[in-house]
Amino acid sequence: MNPVKAFIDSVKSMIVGFKYLFTVPRMTLKFPEQKMVLPPGYRGQHYLEMDKCTGCSICAMSCPPRAITMVKRDPTPRNKRGLFPLINFNYCIYCGYCVLFCPFDALHELDIHDLAVYDRDKLIHPPEFLQKVKENPEILYEYSGMNVIRTPRWKEEYAEPVFTRRGVKHEPIRK
Ligand code: SF4
Ligand code: SF4
Repeated sequence: MNPVKAFIDSVKSMIVGFKYLFTVPRMTLKFPEQKMVLPPGYRGQHYLEMDKCTGCSICAMSCPPRAITMVKRDPTPRNKRGLFPLINFNYCIYCGYCVLFCPFDALHELDIHDLAVYDRDKLIHPPEFLQKVKENPEILYEYSGMNVIRTPRWKEEYAEPVFTRRGVKHEPIRK
């Protein structure tokens, strides 16, 4: 390789890098403190309304990777056999079929996607857990052990993409 040409190419790449450093708005977020507002219909963490569930098992039958197992709980007037879905997020591909095919609108998906865990068993969510997660998303972080990364300086904020002539930047917004 010609050393002079290699030097000129390096200088050229540095010039391009510097140009973008000062002229293009920052496109990344300070995740996890800063989160992007996701569009309606985003397929993330599931949420179950146990009082609407009849135990019909259609969600489990429609799940392509068989991530749903029906488990026994106390029967209710609506769910006489006391069968409710348990979801193993180790296998879930977030296709949304279970939500789509639930005839009683008992299953939903939330805009929560950061399901990192230290122990893979923590990705197995029983029905009671799936029920609580909408009201209290914090339990997801407590249950998974992810809350350990939340320091006293933790300040959560949301951001949404703003399209500019030079690219996309993220404007912080309060939720
Ligand atoms: S969540 Fe819906 S599809 Fe699944 S068992 Fe309950 S009612 Fe049936
Ligand atoms: S989103 Fe798809 S893969 Fe995940 S539990 Fe529902 S049906 Fe199964």
